[in-house]
Amino acid sequence: MKAMQLITTGAPGRFELRDLPAPQPAPDEVSVTVRACGLNHLDLWLESGGLPMPVPLPRTPGGEIAGLVATIGNAVTDWKPGDRVAIQSNLFCGECEFCQRGDESLCLRGELLGVSRDGGFAEQVIVPARSLVRLPDGLDFNTSAALTLAGSTAMHMLTNRTQVRSGDWVLVIGGASGVGSAAIQIAKQLGAQVISTASNDAKHSLARELGADAVVDSTDAHWPAAVRKLTNKRGVDLVVEHVGGAVLEKCFDCLARGGTIVTCGATAGREVKLNLWPIFVKQQRLIGSYGRNRTDIQTTLAWAAAGKFAPVIDSIFPLAEAAQAFAKLRARRVLGKVLVSP
Ligand SMILES: [Zn+2]
Repeated sequence: MKAMQLITTGAPGRFELRDLPAPQPAPDEVSVTVRACGLNHLDLWLESGGLPMPVPLPRTPGGEIAGLVATIGNAVTDWKPGDRVAIQSNLFCGECEFCQRGDESLCLRGELLGVSRDGGFAEQVIVPARSLVRLPDGLDFNTSAALTLAGSTAMHMLTNRTQVRSGDWVLVIGGASGVGSAAIQIAKQLGAQVISTASNDAKHSLARELGADAVVDSTDAHWPAAVRKLTNKRGVDLVVEHVGGAVLEKCFDCLARGGTIVTCGATAGREVKLNLWPIFVKQQRLIGSYGRNRTDIQTTLAWAAAGKFAPVIDSIFPLAEAAQAFAKLRARRVLGKVLVSP
């Protein structure tokens, strides 16, 4: 089978389309024929060697997978060849205290598909059977792959790590990104008034099309003032943040009393300066969110199948051109999701 493997890290890294022997599943695993795999910032970190854990090379990246079960291990009973599936890319043990209560994203022995084992930029991928999620009828592979990681990350942030009440003001950072585009739609479904940030006209228009009630220009250094003005100086109840660094620091200037910032990423920097005074006086919260649980993926895909929201797909690259997909995302020349279709 063909696999696009990272040979040397860098920005850009060196990739090679390789012919590998078809992998065989262990007793509790299945092999999945990949029909579509989304590209994420996690893959860029892997490419550049920027992850805070060692990654043996070569490695096949890609965690946002939709496909068909190909072969099953001899202990697998719930799945059969031909089943249409998405994959929970936060691989989890299923046994620790957190997995037992359904919080797979807190697993003590968690691994990332496409980082600590080979992922979906390949014709086939091997995963534990417990990580599979059944695709709803009528949901196509591209839609699923475009939502499985980014969309369900937003679902986890907005419905698991925090709650949105009807009428709440929600600020979505980077509304044209994978997480941001899903977060705008989810927040609107939950009855929120949504403000999004965007860095150019095309992203501004997209955020509007997705349902944002207002969009502020993130290239203006004073964008938090625009958010305060839109809320009559009150500030927002919730900020959906996935960038980190100075952007996260500015989010506190947008936050109402009792408000919450939920964050799931740090592409703009992992260290921030916090002023504790407003946090305790205004009783605000900063909440971390990591990945998702299978229930978040199931909800996300069910909403998509019911037409409650849809991914924004920027482009679909053939497997042989996956390196160009990485370059496009790195250059931030994307509106929504970039997919690779083996
Ligand atoms: Zn576990």
